[in-house]
Amino acid sequence: MNLYNIKHPEEQVNFAQAVRQGLGKDQGLFFPENIPHLDNIDELLALPLVERSQKILGALIGEEISTEQLNTMVKNAFTFPAPVAKVEDNVYALELFHGPTLAFKDFGGRFMAQALATVRGDGKITILTATSGDTGAAVAHAFYGLENINVVILYPKGKISPLQEKLFCTLGGNIRTVAINGDFDDCQALVKQAFDDAELRQAIGLNSANSINISRLLAQVCYYFEAASQLSKTERENLVVSVPSGNFGNLTAGLIAKSLGLPIKRFIASTNANDTVPRYLREGNWNPHATVATLSNAMDVSRPNNWPRVEEIFKRNGWALTDLHSEAVTDPQTEDTLREMQDKGYVCEPHGAIAYRVLKQDLQPGETGLFLCTAHPAKFKESVERILEIELPLPAALDKHNQLPLLSDEMENDFATLKAYLLA
Ligand SMILES: *Cc1c(COP(=O)(O)O)cnc(C)c1O
Repeated sequence: MNLYNIKHPEEQVNFAQAVRQGLGKDQGLFFPENIPHLDNIDELLALPLVERSQKILGALIGEEISTEQLNTMVKNAFTFPAPVAKVEDNVYALELFHGPTLAFKDFGGRFMAQALATVRGDGKITILTATSGDTGAAVAHAFYGLENINVVILYPKGKISPLQEKLFCTLGGNIRTVAINGDFDDCQALVKQAFDDAELRQAIGLNSANSINISRLLAQVCYYFEAASQLSKTERENLVVSVPSGNFGNLTAGLIAKSLGLPIKRFIASTNANDTVPRYLREGNWNPHATVATLSNAMDVSRPNNWPRVEEIFKRNGWALTDLHSEAVTDPQTEDTLREMQDKGYVCEPHGAIAYRVLKQDLQPGETGLFLCTAHPAKFKESVERILEIELPLPAALDKHNQLPLLSDEMENDFATLKAYLLA
């Protein structure tokens, strides 16, 4: 598999280099030079998740990794299902929260850990990542206990749910977590600065594990196929997919699935009040506002770092960006929507509810709608219980961590401090 840096197309790497490096020169994102067109889609859709995903990832990654190795990586990563649930006529939820940390980031995080363990050289590796909540948990759990891989996770202090924090800041071992005095964009900026520091990068074998890493996106491609496989052929014909978006990695993966030939008619990018993209698509100006805190905190991102990949894929396929519908949903609207969904017999959480709402507003007659449910409702227990006036039992995975003490360090939003911490 060949990839190029979107900012500097002359910088070309293979899959192993892209996985190890994360980002290219000038913080440029890697993008596949070729996305093959699969012409056996119906055959693929008839296969079980793991087997189908082995074939899809094999087609994307190519001969660089042996079939045997790849099959093992996929089998170890995809250990849980992604069921589609019917919410009402023509509207389906793709539940991506049945993994160990109850969020869709388990797919990308676990596959990335497998990929890195496969392509790593002999040197020491430090995974440095910023999280607005769920990436951290997925990455921590995916890498926990892997030999010679240290993990450092930055997150905005007091801006993620207490349960989210418990899930990944209680592991210890090769997992260190740091609460930064700032917001998610600050954490993301610190990570980018670290990657720009050649000396530091070299000294600790820096590697990113957020949605920037291409292996995560490739893994996520697979569940779009899984969703289609659970719908009838007629339903797949006019399929519209609504993606609750923060850093826009999930949407990028969906667009790659479409490039591969999966019949998805169009995508909807749903956001919370951090509406840089819907404003950009409406007005043509890229004008990020300060990040605001919302109920759907994993989407509190005003500078979505995967956006250049979205534009690249539209450009490469000759698709028009005007075909991408994008809309922001406020917190009060999110609350109303959660109650509406509850009336229909479906208990959701704020991220999925945003995707459902924009889908419902935009779905045309004759279309089938699918929205992505990116987290288990219990991960947002406080808000869901308050809004829906119900009690949500804590799933066993969360409850276990909830009993443990937090092991995080605290830090100012200051790169010099972070650097010293990483080198210590
Ligand atoms: C990360 C996250 C999102 C946003 O996904 P992106 O790929 O960053 O757009 C949405 N919902 C939940 C629950 C998340 O954790």
